[in-house]
Amino acid sequence: MEKIDIRSLYFSELEIILKEMGEKSFRAGQVYGWLHEKTAEDFGQMTNLPVKLRQALEERFELTVPELVEERVSRIDGTRKYLFRLADGNVIESVWMQYRHGNSVCISSQVGCRMGCCFCASTLDGLERNLTPSEMLGQVYRIQALTKKRVSHIVMMGSGEPFDNYDGVVRFLRLISDERGLNISLRNITVSTCGIVPGIQRFAREGLPVTLALSLHAPNDQVRQRLMPIAKAYPLSQVLKACQEYFQNTGRRLTFEYSLVKGVNDNLQEAEQLARLLRGVHGHVNLIPVNPVRERNFARSDQKAIREFKEFLEKAGIAVTVRREMGRDIDGACGQLRRGFLSGN
Ligand code: SAH
Repeated sequence: MEKIDIRSLYFSELEIILKEMGEKSFRAGQVYGWLHEKTAEDFGQMTNLPVKLRQALEERFELTVPELVEERVSRIDGTRKYLFRLADGNVIESVWMQYRHGNSVCISSQVGCRMGCCFCASTLDGLERNLTPSEMLGQVYRIQALTKKRVSHIVMMGSGEPFDNYDGVVRFLRLISDERGLNISLRNITVSTCGIVPGIQRFAREGLPVTLALSLHAPNDQVRQRLMPIAKAYPLSQVLKACQEYFQNTGRRLTFEYSLVKGVNDNLQEAEQLARLLRGVHGHVNLIPVNPVRERNFARSDQKAIREFKEFLEKAGIAVTVRREMGRDIDGACGQLRRGFLSGN
């Protein structure tokens, strides 16, 4: 019999299986608490369970944790970057960031990505596979254990497209926000998508009040298609309509990510178009000075262009911020640590 991935199970599912195994009903609460509240990493740690039960769990279930390959700490801002090896040998990247409002972890949802955005390092080798809910939880649990500090915020902005792993991501969100587990507030979680319209629509009906971030990166379909292949499948009109639906259903204001690429999407005409596009939309724009990726041929906009773009939007009444760069000295951005590891740099 194939072993069941125990950490990806909902409490109700674990309850049923343990009952089938002939265990008393209170055992499910104990095991689930060990897994998700105390974030135990093997059955041997579950010391208040009878040895026989621990053996039975070992036989029936699989419990794997990401193994630390490398940790880098920024001298500038304390940001930590982690490379983890999964049970099948794949390597993923996660980031820990300290803010005044708490500690935030940026996690990956897939090994690699197949969306093909032209400025992104995660997509260079395409998609390897989806991460399981347990592997997404594992990034948070492991990092909390390593830093010994409570994680209060999560951003799904590492490698992968969350809505290309829809079921896995939703399960992860329910488990990480479960009262019986780490109980991280859904309001402190951001899911970032490149704009898969059916995914946004479905997510709007999921009843999970997370912040949705849309990778916009352009004010019109032509420029967007140059940067993001997904834009050929879903025009901006449809994407923004789905975003409005998300706001209407959840009451959550959106974040629009806009990476500024020199000479591609950063002139004032584009700022004007963007202001027009987002007029009346409930959300704010987060400008990201693009992080140059070695394998790609494009540059970050100049400071002056960034400032003027921002000021233009502000004058047009659009809420806008420029993303503060974290961990600049440790390959902090966008899949570059993993990339360096894979290519031996
Ligand atoms: N697949 C999701 C998550 C991607 S990473 C999405 O597309 O939203 C989170 C954000 O970083 C996205 O907006 C993505 O477009 C952006 N990004 C990726 N590579 C980048 C780079 N080199 N410089 C700046 N932003 C980048």
